[in-house]
Amino acid sequence: AYSEPQKPSWLKVRPPGDHESQKEYTRLRETVRKKKLATVCEEARCPNIGECWGGGTATIMIMGDTCTRGCRFCNIKTSKAPEGLDPNEPVHAAEAVTSWGLKYVVITSVDRDDYEDGGSAHIAKTVKEMKKRQSDLLIEVLAPDFRGSLKDVEKVAGCGLDVYAHNLETVERLQRAVRDYRAGYKQSLKTLEAAKSHAPHVVTKTSLMLGVGESHEEIRQTMRDLRDCGVEVVTFGQYLRPSKRHLKVEQWVPPHEFEMWQQEGEQMGFRYVASGPLVRSSYKAGEFYLSALVK
Ligand code: SF4
Ligand code: SF4
Repeated sequence: AYSEPQKPSWLKVRPPGDHESQKEYTRLRETVRKKKLATVCEEARCPNIGECWGGGTATIMIMGDTCTRGCRFCNIKTSKAPEGLDPNEPVHAAEAVTSWGLKYVVITSVDRDDYEDGGSAHIAKTVKEMKKRQSDLLIEVLAPDFRGSLKDVEKVAGCGLDVYAHNLETVERLQRAVRDYRAGYKQSLKTLEAAKSHAPHVVTKTSLMLGVGESHEEIRQTMRDLRDCGVEVVTFGQYLRPSKRHLKVEQWVPPHEFEMWQQEGEQMGFRYVASGPLVRSSYKAGEFYLSALVK
């Protein structure tokens, strides 16, 4: 029987930041309560919440809490026919987020294969409503693959967002074991490439989970493929198993290997690499973009 390797000390939760970020964190937490906003940060009990919120970055989820797909690493509820999209959500989410006083918001969503356009119009509308209310708010969308529909990719990439993210999650060989059968390595790469060529000013970004059985050479190949598709930002984090029903952890990748990926990524020409055991795709995203990308 499989028994998970014991969690190493480097996966302990980060301590809260300095006094200023502690204050900002508390302020955001109170607003979230008042506005009844659902944040991924809280729901996923993300260990980085003190740092992210302290720096004015948060992640929200739209299009419901139930996904039409079932990736083996993911803790989201699954259904073939989730509740319909709420047509008022773009405006409500925009009102809540912009009254929150964030600098950087990451909009994630479940996959809605039950909609012809995969929810692309809904996502684009949400971004537009936010920018209308707070033009200096930086917006990253973590987009679905839209089943490879480039028309929907372009609709989202061109809607006024700043960062187009789509997660490849793992190397090519392990796609089928890790992600839903409707997802795919080439399909995901194609969406990232299309987003960049449709909206060249938009930053493209992806994330990889390590520790699911990938080899170093496979990681390198994935990074080369990403660069070939013009992807500019990559993050690496340790896969953590949400429950016994989920994909098992093959390896706790040691911190020095994360440092190695950081260096190799920078040498390969990524504009930004975040790599560390606790790094999540949106980890302190705002901090970098605010200083480096948006002049
Ligand atoms: Fe989770 Fe996204 Fe996969 Fe849906 S598509 S199961 S939300 S990782
Ligand atoms: Fe929220 Fe993402 Fe930061 Fe975690 S890493 S606290 S989910 S913004």
